[in-house]
Amino acid sequence: MKLCIIGSGYVGLVSGACFAEVGHHVTCVDNDARKVEMLLAGKVPIYEPQLEDLLHKNVAAGRLHFTTSTEEGVDNSEVIFIAVPTPPQADGSVDLSYIEKVAREIAAVLKPGQYRVVVDKSTVPVKTGEKVADTIRRYNKTDADFDVVSNPEFLREGCAVPDLMKPDRIVVGSNSERAIALMQKIYEPFMAPVLVTDINSAELIKHAANSFLALKISYINAVAQICEASGANVEKVADGIGMDHRIGRNFLNAGIGYGGSCFPKDIAAFIAISENLGVPFTLLKEVERINATQRDRFLAKVREALWVLKDKKIAVWGLAFKPDTDDVRSSVAVEIVRALVAEGAVVSVYDPKGMEKAAEFKVVEGVRFAESPLDAARDAEALIIATEWKEFQQVDLLDVKSVMHTPLIFDGRNLLDPATVRSFGFTYTSIGRD
Ligand code: NAD
Repeated sequence: MKLCIIGSGYVGLVSGACFAEVGHHVTCVDNDARKVEMLLAGKVPIYEPQLEDLLHKNVAAGRLHFTTSTEEGVDNSEVIFIAVPTPPQADGSVDLSYIEKVAREIAAVLKPGQYRVVVDKSTVPVKTGEKVADTIRRYNKTDADFDVVSNPEFLREGCAVPDLMKPDRIVVGSNSERAIALMQKIYEPFMAPVLVTDINSAELIKHAANSFLALKISYINAVAQICEASGANVEKVADGIGMDHRIGRNFLNAGIGYGGSCFPKDIAAFIAISENLGVPFTLLKEVERINATQRDRFLAKVREALWVLKDKKIAVWGLAFKPDTDDVRSSVAVEIVRALVAEGAVVSVYDPKGMEKAAEFKVVEGVRFAESPLDAARDAEALIIATEWKEFQQVDLLDVKSVMHTPLIFDGRNLLDPATVRSFGFTYTSIGRD
């Protein structure tokens, strides 16, 4: 089938590559000319495991094209996916200006006699589909024939390709039988369960799912605080809870809290949506509060141990909001680094993939970007682990100790084994366990 994806970022580009991989012909549109130039030159603007190979393979096979022209994409494709940003506004509600703009751009190039399905893949508040349809109708001068579908995306950065190729479920929300049939055809090769709903329910599923996952994280983090106060071990507690199939062990890892470009904004958005609808989801405010507390409690532990942070040399391993990605948007690791810098610490950071984006977008300033984990740790008076990259587990702790000034480790992700670390002579602090 011929598909178009508007917005070639983490969601759009990976979706485009995966649709092409199963045999569809895909036009990826982006209004960032620099990004499109890179893609046309065979370069990949983001880091995502397996993505580069998939892009090269499908471009070579003639199934994947890149352009800055929405008109070209819409003309050549029966189904048009929208995968543009939906960032938060100051009050937590969603900035829908990117979606509205794309709806107008599509409306401007929809031609009579061509049926088109406009699919929203971006995460949007319930009832956005209705607004997209209204906008296209209002701005299209030709009485074009189209339907709007909600098809929220559930991929996780760091494993986006496998998540897209083998999804747990595909949610398709539409009131049009014709559009639903086309969506089922697009997704047939993925051999995954397709849940068909109305548009509003599909849109709500995405916010409700992300909020539930954030709730699980805050739940275990609140339990971790009780473990710290009582001497229990949060990992054992999480194992015990998670072995119950009704609960499950996933998303029960205590740490310095969730971050990234999705959870913080989606939970804030769901709170704002619920308030606008007159049914405030107050439970989610507590989820946010616990999340912020985790970061603050962690920083307090560092301050307590180092006494004065000003001029202290601190190494931070991790900048990306999670491992296997270069995405540093709303990363808790970044927040930790910024807090240390603001208090006058001399910070060296190392992240296997996140440093380039951090430098490009100046998300952290006044730090030294190190060449390796050991380089970051050199002369440091404390080492903070802020992102749980596997690579950090493999660093020889004897080497770490020999380059550090004083052997203190603050593990914000419970990445290392406490007994092992202490056996090397480190003072070791982690989350919810001794
Ligand atoms: P992104 O910022 O990585 O990519 C968005 C792209 O859209 C950018 O390349 C931008 O240049 C482009 N764009 C903006 N306006 C455009 C326009 N008018 N025409 C063409 N291109 C345009 O964003 P993302 O992380 O891919 O997220 C996109 C949406 O998907 C958001 O709603 C997000 O919440 C949702 N989502 C993200 C993830 C994730 O893990 N990143 C997962 C599920 C859902």
